[in-house]
Amino acid sequence: MSYTKGKWESVETAVRNRRDGVFYHTDVLCNDTIRVARSSGAGKELALSNARLIAAAPELLEACRAVVKGFECECIKDQAPVPCEICQCQAAIEKAKKQ
Ligand SMILES: [Zn+2]
Repeated sequence: MSYTKGKWESVETAVRNRRDGVFYHTDVLCNDTIRVARSSGAGKELALSNARLIAAAPELLEACRAVVKGFECECIKDQAPVPCEICQCQAAIEKAKKQ
């Protein structure tokens, strides 16, 4: 899976949509230059929160990869009714890879 490498950050300013006056949009930049995403939300804070979550995606992906690589799934052993944290991390990785 490939994605734009570098430091992803929310620009931390949001612009109100002129048409409806409710939704705001903001950007996520890589290395302060490349726009990798445009986030929106009903209200400034929601748009910024969505952008911060997107900006954290590369780090979250790497953290999930480290968990999957470093720990064994315990679903079968524990007969857990819900997937264990390792399986949840694997599912998040698969979601990111989905094409
Ligand atoms: Zn599991």
